[in-house]
Amino acid sequence: MRNLPKVILKRGREKPLLRGHPWVFSGAVEKIEGEVTPGDEGEVYSKEGEFIGIGHLNPHSQILVRLLTRKKEVLGEDFFKERILKAVHFRESWFKGKTNAYRMVNGEGDFLPGLMIDRYGDLLVLQCTTAGMDRLKGLITKILIEHFSPRTIYERSDAPLRKEEGLKESQGLLFGKEMNELQEIEEYGSRFRVDVRGGQKTGFYLDQRENRLFLREFTKGKKILDGFSYTGAFSIHAARGGARELTLIDSSEDALKRAKEHFELNELNHLPLQLIKGDAFEVLRGLESSSYDIIVLDPPPFAKRKGELLGALRGYKEIHLQAFRLLRPDGLLLTFSCSHHIGWDLFQKVIFTSACDSGREVQLLARRGQPIDHLFSLFHPEGEYLKGFLLRVL
Ligand code: SAH
Repeated sequence: MRNLPKVILKRGREKPLLRGHPWVFSGAVEKIEGEVTPGDEGEVYSKEGEFIGIGHLNPHSQILVRLLTRKKEVLGEDFFKERILKAVHFRESWFKGKTNAYRMVNGEGDFLPGLMIDRYGDLLVLQCTTAGMDRLKGLITKILIEHFSPRTIYERSDAPLRKEEGLKESQGLLFGKEMNELQEIEEYGSRFRVDVRGGQKTGFYLDQRENRLFLREFTKGKKILDGFSYTGAFSIHAARGGARELTLIDSSEDALKRAKEHFELNELNHLPLQLIKGDAFEVLRGLESSSYDIIVLDPPPFAKRKGELLGALRGYKEIHLQAFRLLRPDGLLLTFSCSHHIGWDLFQKVIFTSACDSGREVQLLARRGQPIDHLFSLFHPEGEYLKGFLLRVL
């Protein structure tokens, strides 16, 4: 084996790693032996000299090592092929006949830190968030071509996370034919056209798929408000469930334009539809009390960093207060937080404070999280981010 740089930990700091956590924070490191450039592989050892594993190094990142293996093995084509196939085969059988769009590889959750791959039919979108994975784009592309015969592989490595790794944004065609402007996908019988080049995330919020299907079960005859609608995916499923009337709010004009197209594409354009472009905080305040049967709130993460927590909580409090005001008696609220720094408890508490101020009785009917293609490892609980509640407002 090649001579890899060695990361020597401070005394006792190997414990979380031995229990299975994949991250070594810079504060846990005593010294590094050997030259390191961001993205290099390196071996990790305890202070006492016990071998812990091999991972990708980045001295510019707070997370100095992301472990890939606990064995002394070569991290070559065979290694990555096995990990990728293991992740994808499971999803392929799970989603067969349900959807042709899902996350094939979900970073740490699939023991491939820094690598996300999304499938939109025969178009695959790759996203690398670490220097180590960034270097392996060519190899990953080769594996994807050989095993999944995609028409196109496109890179959307423009997540803000890359900055923390000292990486520039990177976007473009990695393989195959230039894409059409929009890629059509199907999700539980609903059709959507995804803008992989310019859309949010890699084009679509795949992580809400099952929650949209869930909503569909109780929308018959209901008047729906879809706050933070993006391209209307919740609304389309609500409409297919029999919703009577829909209002969508989003700050992005482009997203609302696509939402309208989605109603046409799904032959639902006969339904009364109101599209409101604006800041949801203001728009909600301006709507009439007790006028909706069901409200969906799926905002962007208000707390991307710990320092933003207080402001985020204020934001969640305000939108829930408005939602409680806008719901008719017996109305339903399906609400989400994708802020990493707000856990289930805290999210529930902030909604509770809104409920108190609103004077409404509120019952919790269901908790809804992220779907199986956005799985996370129990050894890396940081991979959990999506928290949702279905509430009944009396
Ligand atoms: N529910 C959607 C995803 C929503 S993502 C789906 O299933 O596809 C969050 C959306 O909120 C984005 O479309 C973004 O444009 C919008 N947004 C962000 N800040 C906003 C604000 N202050 N007011 C209204 N919309 C906002």
